[in-house]
Amino acid sequence: MRKTFIAGNWKMNLTQSGATELAAGLVAKLADNTTVEVAICPSFGFLSGVAEQLASSHISLGAQNLYPAESGAYTGELNAEMLLDLGCDYVILGHSERRHLPALDESNQFINLKVKSAIAAGLKPILCVGELLEEREAGRTTAVVEQQLTNSLADITAEQIELITIAYEPVWAIGTGKVATPEQAEEVHGSIRAWLRNRFNDLVADTTRIQYGGSVKPENARELLSQPNIDGALVGGAALSTDSFIGIIENA
Ligand code: PEP
Repeated sequence: MRKTFIAGNWKMNLTQSGATELAAGLVAKLADNTTVEVAICPSFGFLSGVAEQLASSHISLGAQNLYPAESGAYTGELNAEMLLDLGCDYVILGHSERRHLPALDESNQFINLKVKSAIAAGLKPILCVGELLEEREAGRTTAVVEQQLTNSLADITAEQIELITIAYEPVWAIGTGKVATPEQAEEVHGSIRAWLRNRFNDLVADTTRIQYGGSVKPENARELLSQPNIDGALVGGAALSTDSFIGIIENA
């Protein structure tokens, strides 16, 4: 059985006090929750403050990025060991904003280095994949997603993939209010599971969690999350308010 996994990506939002307050509110309201796995991913600067709030809770901490090097001259960057030291269990990798913002322009090859370095340290990657609107309209969704999976997961073994969650995030649905229909999302999730079966084995395909991300809200969460191949959600905007994030978890 795949345990439902809801993760909140706070992106570059909040202040130190806003982040700790939001974390404290979630801890208070989710004290009795053990059925859904929950993680929150604040900005680097707020990780230790949020970690303190989460210390005695069931909520995990995640980061939004890492740099794949052990140490040295990488000004402004944090590596996997530093994130573990700050209390992180998870790290979001390959988010579409990092793939497509022109100043960042991350390649699958670079994302693959990040995945390997997270796994080597024991940090669990949430690997994001997803197509642009023009790629969907050209009928290339599956091909694009499969190429992202093939290249971002190059050299990863069936044992190592146990640490990985995949997040299918159609780029046209992120932060736009335009959500994929449950049928559209389920179709891609099914193709990702088939890809996992082919690239790894049945066990990997049946146990790897695949989250949907893209304008998930309390109102659409239930229908999306009731699809057989949708095992959770990666939530952006709606993770910035206690009520809407809890509303999604309650609908999961
Ligand atoms: C995200 O940031 O990964 C995301 C899915 O954002 P939103 O929920 O705001 O579309």
